[in-house]
Amino acid sequence: MTAQITDSGRKTQMERRACYDQSSCTSDHFALRLVRWYADFGRSFPWRHSCDPYSVLMAVFMLQRTGVSQVMNVYEDFLERFPDLSALRGADQEELVAALKPLGRTGRVRVLTALVDTLSTEYNGRIPAELKELESLPGVGQYSARALLVIAFQRPYIMLDPNSYRVLHRACGTTSACSRPHADRKMIRQLDAIVPSSNPVEYNLALLDIGATSCRARRPVHEVCPLTSICAFHESKHGGRVPTEYLGQVGPRPTL
Ligand code: SF4
Repeated sequence: MTAQITDSGRKTQMERRACYDQSSCTSDHFALRLVRWYADFGRSFPWRHSCDPYSVLMAVFMLQRTGVSQVMNVYEDFLERFPDLSALRGADQEELVAALKPLGRTGRVRVLTALVDTLSTEYNGRIPAELKELESLPGVGQYSARALLVIAFQRPYIMLDPNSYRVLHRACGTTSACSRPHADRKMIRQLDAIVPSSNPVEYNLALLDIGATSCRARRPVHEVCPLTSICAFHESKHGGRVPTEYLGQVGPRPTL
């Protein structure tokens, strides 16, 4: 059941209740709002404009527990110096350490080396395009695997980080019993069904961006959010049922 917006922008009680049904997030209306908003207001990062699996994999790898601004400082130079897997496979270790040093985390080079070795020996230098295979690679968790499939291969998977979960929780009442909902594999598999196959990139990146900008954990800025008129959390201020508040993690978050 999908909430309909009346001409006046107000909803009936029945329509308001429907907002709390997760199915409201499956509506074309919801997806359309996200996709249109992203076209005008989505954040622009170099890795978002690439369909090259290697370039996206490097971005996903660098962004793990690392801020976007840190990655922006090294990403393009890194790709220029190591433009593909074969360049990385033959890389001088000291040069690799120096290239990734600004990102911190001393174990990063070791993991990257293991990743490149695995891709070389088990996948003949190819980056797989299947979730199970990607998740089994060194240094590639479920979020990274999904991000790669969405950005590089335009596959309809959900990229659920604490920000995008917060948006879905507040807007649609999506709920998990896990203390770390963005790691709730069962719920994540269910959420795959809400991603439109026609615009998986824009849909996911809009959720991430709304969660990182307007739908902040504390003091969300509803006024600039494209979901205001269909959001359960926002609607609760007008007498609806209040979803359990979810603030999400504090600190660097996975993002793309
Ligand atoms: S309307 Fe407010 S609470 Fe709802 S998704 Fe937008 S910013 Fe978040």
